[in-house]
Amino acid sequence: MKTVKDRKEIVIGLLGLGVVGSGVAQALLERKGGLAGRVGCPLRLQRILVRQTDKLRAVSLDSNLLTTDADEVLSNPEIDIVVELMGGENPALPYASRALTSGKHLVTANKEVMAKHGPELVSLAQSKGVELRYEASVGGGIPLVGSFVGDLAANRISAVHGIINGTTNYILSRMAAEGLEFNAALTAAQELGFAEADPSDDVDGVDAAYKLAILATLAFNTRVKPEDVYREGIRRLTGRDFRYAGELGYAIKLLAIAKERDGAVEVRVHPALVPQESLLAKVSGAYNAVQVEGDLVGQVIFYGLGAGSLPTTSAVLADVLAIARRLYQGIGPVPRPTQDIGRDIAPISQLTARYYLRMVVADSPGVLAQISRVLGDLSISIASVIQMEAHQAAGTAELVLMTHPALEESVQQALWKTQELGAVTEIASFLRVEA
Ligand code: NAP
Repeated sequence: MKTVKDRKEIVIGLLGLGVVGSGVAQALLERKGGLAGRVGCPLRLQRILVRQTDKLRAVSLDSNLLTTDADEVLSNPEIDIVVELMGGENPALPYASRALTSGKHLVTANKEVMAKHGPELVSLAQSKGVELRYEASVGGGIPLVGSFVGDLAANRISAVHGIINGTTNYILSRMAAEGLEFNAALTAAQELGFAEADPSDDVDGVDAAYKLAILATLAFNTRVKPEDVYREGIRRLTGRDFRYAGELGYAIKLLAIAKERDGAVEVRVHPALVPQESLLAKVSGAYNAVQVEGDLVGQVIFYGLGAGSLPTTSAVLADVLAIARRLYQGIGPVPRPTQDIGRDIAPISQLTARYYLRMVVADSPGVLAQISRVLGDLSISIASVIQMEAHQAAGTAELVLMTHPALEESVQQALWKTQELGAVTEIASFLRVEA
């Protein structure tokens, strides 16, 4: 029986030849033999869309491959697989739609497009009988999307805790290790190429929220949009918080959390205290880690480089190879349903957590009693109180409180009320504790 389709090659078109595109192009050109062996026939890079054809590139290739005309990729009848590595929403989204509509398979690393429009693109792909894969959109080289879609698919996932932004983890690691303030750590990250000139998407948690929306959609079989994700960035963290958290036995990490709560899904990105002995606390520098709790598998942890040309190339090419193998064997696309069972998004106000609070207060007797009364009236009990430092000249002292589990909306209300106490000068920090 003849099972192998009579195909001489699989033809690929790239959209973008930047950090990731260069890695992908180079691997396609340099690993021809190995890749062909894994597919059954050669993969041929046919066209690459860029903005500027005369720019110096990180990969040396025939300049005839480059074009500034998107039609040369999207309307090229020879191209089987379009690989979108441009980034941003526009024109990446219309190009992705055009590729799928014209019957081309699509591989993308674009978290913004997948977080905002993923389910619609997956439906479009299915209606056109083609495949859409997006492993590289979350966690760079770490196999996350495929794991949720495949290896973990039989589980009921109860929680996902991730460090999924390498830039912020690098900044926080420097703050923790060297006692740097945020701005100094950010500048160091920018000088070393770990942070962009405009770092907002990273430090404000936007990038992590896109990735969490993609993971939570897969993990909980429900549509989670970026705007559903409660988000706080890391700009307000100070060297003091790292010192005090360390004295209390905690590290501070920007966590992306998706959890089931009473049938709904809570999705949040914010800095959090994590016990120093936990695995997530030990993830340092630009590394990423994602911890998943499934009812069958128990706890699984994925760890690795979440960005960079080569790790991301690894994920992009894994998707290209998966599609190419099936094309060569003449097997239709594997349906990758994004089920939407319509779960509610649980509001942050109803979260129950322990809290770390740092306040600057008048250094006088009775202040703690006043604060305890405000908290107690809202059913918030204090687990520990530490007076960290007194500033004699200013007549103030710094108080660090850890609460027992409390309702977020009560804690927020209590913070407003404590600020009305004349003795509280400033609520300097408010951080959730994730055990
Ligand atoms: P990049 O270095 O900025 O490269 C973007 C490429 O797309 C450039 O070659 C650029 O052309 C081309 N391009 C952009 N807009 C275009 C337009 N309107 N028309 C034609 N060409 C256009 O981006 P990247 O870092 O490789 O990221 C690509 C994608 O991978 C993004 O979705 C990103 O989120 C994702 N990703 C990146 C990483 C990473 O480590 N960098 C990790 C995971 C996922 P020119 O070169 O001519 O300017």
